[in-house]
Amino acid sequence: MLVVLGTPHRLRELGKQSPDGRLRECVYGRQVAAGVAAKLQGMGYRVMTDYEPMDLPREMQTPNARLERQRELALRVNFSNDRCRRHGSRNVIYVSIHVNAVGSDGQWHQAGGWSVYVSDKASARSKLLADCLYDAAEAHGLKMRRPVATQKFWEQSLYVLNHTLCPAVLTENLFQDNRADVDFLLSDEGRHAIERLHVEGIIKYIESI
Ligand SMILES: [Zn+2]
Repeated sequence: MLVVLGTPHRLRELGKQSPDGRLRECVYGRQVAAGVAAKLQGMGYRVMTDYEPMDLPREMQTPNARLERQRELALRVNFSNDRCRRHGSRNVIYVSIHVNAVGSDGQWHQAGGWSVYVSDKASARSKLLADCLYDAAEAHGLKMRRPVATQKFWEQSLYVLNHTLCPAVLTENLFQDNRADVDFLLSDEGRHAIERLHVEGIIKYIESI
């Protein structure tokens, strides 16, 4: 099994940060991905990251923010699908690591908690992977967000989930515009919990298929 970790966004994508600037989603997500990769690799798992640099190469940058974002997402999907074609999509999983937000108005908000997303056309394996991550997050005592009592994952049409050939999920690791969530995310305890829940959820999935 090859684990592909998805990093979130780019430095050039504005607004993806806490109102006080202490947490930037693109930086935090890459730190979590690096920590998760190191821990899994230390246990013998094969792990890759879809895109490590903070920004696209200069020749792919453009003043058109939408176009640049589309280029970023295509690059991520191409990376995963190349591996799927090489190893077989049943032997690859994709876990994109994000931090949620209510808005991009630069204000603190009340909403908080942890959630996991699959595509609205998700496979049974994507849903199983989401359930494994949800259970791992819940075991760390995080405040959980689920759409209804009977379902642990949210279903949404998201580019990297819709177009990736292997089981694919996206985690929203608390809220970057909730003050208590940001304090926790930046604490040693919080960083440890966020890394561990990904490690434990991914292993639980691999061992259960
Ligand atoms: Zn994000």
